[in-house]
Amino acid sequence: MSLLNRISFAGRAKISGQQGSSEIYNEENNIMPDLNIYRGACHCQAIRVQLRTAWKPEEFPLRECDCSFCRRHGARTVRDSEGELTLFGQPHWYRFGMGTADFLLCSDCGVYLASVIRVPEGDFATCNTNCLEIASQLDQQAKPVNYSDESLEERVKRRVASWTPFIHQPVSVENRGAGLLCLDLTHDSAPPASQIFVTP
Ligand SMILES: [Zn+2]
Repeated sequence: MSLLNRISFAGRAKISGQQGSSEIYNEENNIMPDLNIYRGACHCQAIRVQLRTAWKPEEFPLRECDCSFCRRHGARTVRDSEGELTLFGQPHWYRFGMGTADFLLCSDCGVYLASVIRVPEGDFATCNTNCLEIASQLDQQAKPVNYSDESLEERVKRRVASWTPFIHQPVSVENRGAGLLCLDLTHDSAPPASQIFVTP
């Protein structure tokens, strides 16, 4: 699938209204291959995530980045350029190092859920699998990765090509008994996209 198609898919994926069906269509209304849906949340449940991917839990290609941020969180991440990650809520957007991506944390309980790069090609993310409901099933070995030798350009290129198309739903969610209460659909806490293509 081309990059353009993947971006369009991220923006337009929908679930059909037919009972018992969860077929996902791309922009040409062709049915996408069946994707599994994995849900997750931070510790206090204020921030939620939903990862769509064709992988079964045992197929998740986990990665352990050795940067100082990921090690402090014990992060084990995945990204799927053929999938889709949606984050619900208003996380804290933390930026460090080259500043090419934001690391999304719950501002209340501190859990790290995902990191996101926002570029003209679209928004792309990698998901910290520790926050997924299936985290305890992911007992496969994570692959150690080190990106410290990358140039800024290489880093952006790699992320755009390999990270998961990302959707942010800036809705505040709270657990209220059995239900989920949506508090605010109007305010997006996300900062502007990275200014990484601007040369000082
Ligand atoms: Zn939280």
